[in-house]
Amino acid sequence: MIATLGYRIFRTTDTRVLWKFAYNFGYKGMRSVQRFKKRLKRGTTFPPFLYISITNSCNLRCTGCWIDVAAPQALISFDEMNTLIVNAKKHGNSFFGILGGEPFMHPDLMRILAAHPDCYFQIFTNGHFITDEVAAAMRRIGNATPLISVEGTELVSDQRRGRLGVLNKTLSGIDACIRNRLITGVATSVCQTNIDDLVNEAWVDALIKRGVHYMWYHTYRPVGPEAAPELALRPEQVLSVRRFAVEMRSKKAIGFVDAYWDDKGQALCPAATGISHHVGPWGDVEPCPIVQLATENIRDNDGDIYKTLTESAYLKDFRETAAKATRGCIVLERPDLLKELAIKHGAKDTTDRKEMLAEIDAMQPLNSQHNPGNEIPEDQWLYRFAKKHWFFGFGAYT
Ligand code: SF4
Repeated sequence: MIATLGYRIFRTTDTRVLWKFAYNFGYKGMRSVQRFKKRLKRGTTFPPFLYISITNSCNLRCTGCWIDVAAPQALISFDEMNTLIVNAKKHGNSFFGILGGEPFMHPDLMRILAAHPDCYFQIFTNGHFITDEVAAAMRRIGNATPLISVEGTELVSDQRRGRLGVLNKTLSGIDACIRNRLITGVATSVCQTNIDDLVNEAWVDALIKRGVHYMWYHTYRPVGPEAAPELALRPEQVLSVRRFAVEMRSKKAIGFVDAYWDDKGQALCPAATGISHHVGPWGDVEPCPIVQLATENIRDNDGDIYKTLTESAYLKDFRETAAKATRGCIVLERPDLLKELAIKHGAKDTTDRKEMLAEIDAMQPLNSQHNPGNEIPEDQWLYRFAKKHWFFGFGAYT
């Protein structure tokens, strides 16, 4: 099936776009993880994958969103992004995840991409601002893949995302990317209102028919001012999503990304392993997007993100505490430990609403991706090989 997928991608994407994906993300991405592993052996943790929320602004109002989208607009500026990326590149990084809010509401997004032709960017977007013109510009620059979120049927999308006509606008954004031969992905935060509609073969086939190249099933995290814990998945549902993705990898000519399991199907937390950390819209350096507590900012140390990250006692303690507590998600399973960490390090509430600690207090512990005894190992050889070498616990779970 991998060969069929490879041929489909080759046939439907721009050659230069494909080259940048293969080289800037594939080859250089692998090398950046190798350097990460070497640093770990020296006792230094600097993630090869940085995720940056370049703005808080968004045109939607999704249930379960942790970003203060209605707050006055904050931007990580073009110059600050350059400083961060140039610094991270010195340490072998080439891949950057671009989040928001809605990243296409940042006035300089295209400039940021164009300024770093030797890097690769994955843009987490709702697709509403992707016109043919925008998609054509991304094709010219060539170093980014849009990962477009679909959260349900037409009705569910409007309900969940707080606006009307959401799904149609998203689908037209997807179509513009496909028409302009971009490597295009679709992500879903799987929850009670979309699991039946979006975790099945008919939906996967529909996306393949539409021309989509890869999918990513996130597991809904009930956080933020409107957490809606009733939307969270039960343990057996999390397992069924995992099982489905593993099966589809061998059965369908479409890629499946996940960030929560290694080659043996053992759960992991990317932030606890140190393979990725997050920068919030106000520049705060956070363990991951939903942990809105920080002691450092990208503007510290004259923008030397390597120094800021590697010298952070808070981030080190977060990784160790999270890995000791669970192979799953400390936010879901042990919010109490998160609060203790924040108080111990005097971590700042990085939200505009300043309610992060109160929200943690209100959280009831929930299950996450860790379900010991029910591991579902990778079935498809390429995923097994890639995870075995470049995506596992990295010694965090000893
Ligand atoms: S703390 Fe939870 S949400 Fe954050 S990276 Fe880890 S598993 Fe994911």
